[in-house]
Amino acid sequence: MLRHYWPPTKLRILRTSSGKKVTNNKRVNKKDVAKLLNEWSGEFTVFVPSRDEGVTKWTKWDGEGASFLDWYRNTVVPPKAIFLPPMEEMFGFHKDGKGCRIELPASSKQKPLIFGIRPCDAKALAILDMTFKDAYEDPYYLAKRNRGVLVGLGCTNPYDSCFCTSLDSSPTDATNVDLMLTDIGDDFLVEAITDRGRKLMAKTSLAQAAGETDEVRAKKAKEAANSKVTRKIEAEGITEKLLSCFEDKDYWEKIAAKCISCGICTFLCPTCYCFDINDELVRNRGERFRSWDSCAFPLYTKMPMENPRQEKWRRLRQKVCHKYEFYPLNFEVIACTGCGRCIRLCPVNWDITQILDNLPAEEQLKPEKC
Ligand code: SF4
Ligand code: SF4
Repeated sequence: MLRHYWPPTKLRILRTSSGKKVTNNKRVNKKDVAKLLNEWSGEFTVFVPSRDEGVTKWTKWDGEGASFLDWYRNTVVPPKAIFLPPMEEMFGFHKDGKGCRIELPASSKQKPLIFGIRPCDAKALAILDMTFKDAYEDPYYLAKRNRGVLVGLGCTNPYDSCFCTSLDSSPTDATNVDLMLTDIGDDFLVEAITDRGRKLMAKTSLAQAAGETDEVRAKKAKEAANSKVTRKIEAEGITEKLLSCFEDKDYWEKIAAKCISCGICTFLCPTCYCFDINDELVRNRGERFRSWDSCAFPLYTKMPMENPRQEKWRRLRQKVCHKYEFYPLNFEVIACTGCGRCIRLCPVNWDITQILDNLPAEEQLKPEKC
């Protein structure tokens, strides 16, 4: 089971003095979203989905409305890029006659507010926290993550590659966000999940108390969205199955055959986090930075005397086993959210759900020392 950091609150039905039933949830008109973002941008760096030459990703809100609501399903580049950027300066250094001076980057003061994060991607951040917060404390990630606010937006139109419902989640799962928005027509129903979320909503005059009709609409919208996720995997027992077929070279060679080692499925996976560290020095000024790396690349594990993952099948095995075997053994959670990006974006249609569904049964195994 995923350890949840912020327990969701229970819905309370209240009554106004006129006897009208309202709930402790709020309602915000879609036309007011830009005004709301404007209010929040006074305190936070607001990130929204955007399109850049056909690639959807998260960028700072430009103050120009909320037209992304018309086309946004999910982004190609996941929101992990805000907390663990593809390339990030760790520090600069300057050498002069008096020694070496370290210069810390200014961006570490940022308070990001992610507007519209999907439940699978919010869960992915909770999974990343286990590595960057629990296993060791990564100051670069935590500087942004600890100050960050997640405003979730339930999916209404999941992709056919999504399979979050097989992994203890759903398109409307509010577990890992501060505020959760549900599309109920002209409005969003807004549920405050954490104290941080409650404080945010308490400050705005753009929200009204939600009524019973809004709650009924939200319930129907959630049921409709959840029923649209039809792709399934059998997650129960998957770690044990992978443990038993780890040495089956024939199987892994077969599933790796068409992979071209492009790394897309790892770069764009919201729970993959491998990075490389480099120093760049020009005259007396230098920079240490880290950048995304991928276990799909043969150079990733190259060492002076050998490379334990020179062959492609070993690298693909690593990718699958890291998510479904090693992470559960270390953190008691599968490091895959079922977001489906690796299925949608793989240039050769490599499909993790088919691989997991066709793991060889114990009697079919051909273990070979590898
Ligand atoms: S995206 Fe597809 S081809 Fe590229 S590394 Fe992943 S499985 Fe291989
Ligand atoms: S492995 Fe694929 S489906 Fe799972 S979280 Fe990563 S990109 Fe999404």
